[in-house]
Amino acid sequence: MKTAKFGGTSLADAGRFLQVRDIILSDPEIRFVVVSAPGKRYKEDTKITDLLYACYDSVRHGVDAKHAFRPVADRFRQIVKELGLSINLEPEFKNVESDLEAGASIDYCASRGEYFSALIMSALLKWPLIDTAQCLFFDHNGGPNLDMANRELKRVIGESSCGVMPGFYGAMAGGGIRTFARGGSDISGALLANASGSDVYENWTDVPGIFNGDPSTVPDADVIPAMAYEEIRELAYMGANVLHEDAVFPARRMGIPIHMRYTLDPSAPGTVISASGGGSPVPVTGISGRRGYATVQIEKESMNSTVGYCRRILSAFEKNGVPFDHIATGLGSVSLVAPVGSVEDCRDTLIADITAAVNPDSISIEKGLAMISVVGSHMAGKPGVAGRLLSAIGRAGINVRMIVQGTREINITVGVNEQDYEKAVHAAHREFFRA
Ligand code: ASP
Repeated sequence: MKTAKFGGTSLADAGRFLQVRDIILSDPEIRFVVVSAPGKRYKEDTKITDLLYACYDSVRHGVDAKHAFRPVADRFRQIVKELGLSINLEPEFKNVESDLEAGASIDYCASRGEYFSALIMSALLKWPLIDTAQCLFFDHNGGPNLDMANRELKRVIGESSCGVMPGFYGAMAGGGIRTFARGGSDISGALLANASGSDVYENWTDVPGIFNGDPSTVPDADVIPAMAYEEIRELAYMGANVLHEDAVFPARRMGIPIHMRYTLDPSAPGTVISASGGGSPVPVTGISGRRGYATVQIEKESMNSTVGYCRRILSAFEKNGVPFDHIATGLGSVSLVAPVGSVEDCRDTLIADITAAVNPDSISIEKGLAMISVVGSHMAGKPGVAGRLLSAIGRAGINVRMIVQGTREINITVGVNEQDYEKAVHAAHREFFRA
């Protein structure tokens, strides 16, 4: 049995809804379905979820709810009309309008895209609707309560042999709609796959799978046929964001393979993400990267023998709400790599707090760093992978500013100047996939 989740582009208009219905009905193993809100129909179009955030803002600034909600209602009206469905969404639209007038929350407003998508898909398939607000609960810390979600989803599914669930939202245990972060329908899908006891979680999108290089930088990158959960986490983190990174954990916990599939070509093999991954002939599974990093470099003589030094630096990061992605140390220096925006926002207080915490010899913040991560669970224990990477980047005439590799040996991450980013990614991709 399978749970299948369909992303927003796969449900952008009536034609896409029909395509998705055909995919579902052509595979009797698909018993549970999770849908996103309709996405963009064409490049300049606006996603329903973005329209809903704009709608909420308009209402807050005094626009009447009926007027603010009309662009959303009109998109759904058009889909229902073109599908020839007999459902009447007008009373539901009125409910949303009056809830908004009454001060409904931003999460409630944003969730209506998935809600209406699911109503339509459930009518199209003639399958029951799973009310996610009754079973997918969030903790007070804002994350889903996995055990409770599992239990309550199981209860709501009951004896049903099929169902359609809206993605992206659930509820606080005490009531009130709560959404995941953007792209969070992937997480809803993983939770439903768990609770329904599915053998596979299919995630259908508008791309053919996970590529071994970011196609916007490496246009001839290939789709990875199979990979390990731990590899997707490393790749997703660095920008290959086809799948929400938080969707991996629930599937991994239950050992459910995630099969990334391509709505525009259901015969395409896609990418299977599982515990065992792929028996890749090369040690590297994929390469990803991202521009937009800054380094905070702190120097202090005899730092290495001062117990608690790093903890105090990290406390200053924590106090300023700066997440860091990488850390590299020398005996008398430590460099932390963080997204440039988060450092810029608090530059002066961060420097002051680090100074107060550890009294360093110097602190410098440099922008313009790009990080490139070479990922592969088969790299561990294989001599020469880092050597090949560094030689390839060196041969391309690029200076490496930072190198990070954990002892888990699943990724080697290098920092280069932003202007060298593309060239470095190409050099690494060529080395491991075209040599
Ligand atoms: N519709 C939401 C978004 O645009 C959630 C999702 O599609 O996963 O982020």
